[in-house]
Amino acid sequence: MLICHHKTELRTQLSKLRSKGMSIGFVPTMGALHEGHFSLVKRALKENDAVVCSIFVNPTQFNEASDFENYPNTVELDKEKLQETGCQIVYIPSVEDVYENEEIKPLDISFIEGKMEGKHRPGHFEGVVRVLNQFFKIIEPDKSYFGLKDYQQFLVVKELSIQMNLGGEIVGCETVREDSGLAKSSRNLRLSEEDRSKAAIIFQSFQSIKNAEDKLSSVLKSKQKIGQEFDLEYLDLRDGETLQEVSNLDAHQHIRAFFAGKIGNVRLIDNFRIK
Ligand code: AMP
Repeated sequence: MLICHHKTELRTQLSKLRSKGMSIGFVPTMGALHEGHFSLVKRALKENDAVVCSIFVNPTQFNEASDFENYPNTVELDKEKLQETGCQIVYIPSVEDVYENEEIKPLDISFIEGKMEGKHRPGHFEGVVRVLNQFFKIIEPDKSYFGLKDYQQFLVVKELSIQMNLGGEIVGCETVREDSGLAKSSRNLRLSEEDRSKAAIIFQSFQSIKNAEDKLSSVLKSKQKIGQEFDLEYLDLRDGETLQEVSNLDAHQHIRAFFAGKIGNVRLIDNFRIK
């Protein structure tokens, strides 16, 4: 497995692979890798000749300094596990390497403004778009893999791909969960045992909403229940394509429940397809 810290080195390696006609898959991550990340890498390995996984805690997408500073770092273990998985190239750049000569291109992501993550993490998606623009320019992947765990991000990336005419495919991958239903997340490392088991209530609520006859009142009940454990930011039913709030379920083909909240100072997000 090749480890690149500089984009020039990465570009050289990628052009060698391309000259042999090899396709390139790309999996961007912030490290502290878990089964969710590896599911993306495995899928990318199946669908491409070579896979680049980036490990980069992107400062521009954190709207809280403490969240950035406390972001877990397990880079040595990450490298070992990526090697075991069969990943061919890992890109672990510095902030300078990613952002030098950055040209910020205007992107219209107004569909997310004032909604959910767009509301609760001002500037977050702008930072995601900035870093991905840089990565896509460096790597020019044939296919890039994103988790549906961050569904709002997935929609933003699809929008980026369309507006920037990226050419490569954006692939969404199902959420990998713990046995309790809790979505795997690097942030779970910061949960106490007790909070980790309490956090199973997120998935239980999704299940209750999905199975309920009256889904809107089930959301209200779930909000109350989750609110006893979490500092709840949102639990919304939204259209899976437009993110418009849902008031009449029959009027939508694709509906997802979206959650964000803090427990023990750890902010978790999750979502689940309801229809
Ligand atoms: P992160 O390191 O949190 O930026 O995540 C890197 C990629 O892994 C993103 O596309 C995430 O959506 C995806 N991811 C994170 N957790 C999971 C999970 N539990 N299941 C599937 N994909 C995930």
